[in-house]
Amino acid sequence: MSKIFDAIFLDRDGTISHDIYGYINSLSDYNFFDYTFEALEILNKYTDKFVIVTNQSGLASGKIDIENLEKINSFIYQEFEKRDLPLKKIYFADNYDEGYNFMRKPGIGMFVKAKEDFNIDLSKSLMIGDSIVDMQVGDRLNMKTIFLLTGFGKEYLNEVQEKCDPNFIAKDLLHASKEITSI
Ligand SMILES: [Mg+2]
Repeated sequence: MSKIFDAIFLDRDGTISHDIYGYINSLSDYNFFDYTFEALEILNKYTDKFVIVTNQSGLASGKIDIENLEKINSFIYQEFEKRDLPLKKIYFADNYDEGYNFMRKPGIGMFVKAKEDFNIDLSKSLMIGDSIVDMQVGDRLNMKTIFLLTGFGKEYLNEVQEKCDPNFIAKDLLHASKEITSI
């Protein structure tokens, strides 16, 4: 199978895992969707690099403690590793800066870092997420994008259709993985 994407960038909350309150501050509240790894194993046929890019402004507002975020990150790395899924890195943006060059999506900062760290060709990469900011940053970087209707996806759908141009809109990550060759 050819690796059609240099990397697949994944949002975290609402994309690979449940987003219950809009933020998560404990490992016991962090739950992957039940289909997440089935979907990732399919997606792994089309890339050999996964990157997680997640806005966690709760760190700045005090809703999230860095120790708890680090525990969640370790858990995510372990779960990918168990299944031989090549997760290169989890990038998180801990601030509210929304400018084009900043880390927080729709800023491109986390993507530029990933490109430098792992020599990724962003124009040959895919962004998958459930928020308008995931689609906006993908559009800015000429990436392919898939918008998911999980998480906050349904609430953002109209705005995404007005302002962005996703290559595909999927019910969830599993649906996206099964339709990947059509985008
Ligand atoms: Mg999200």
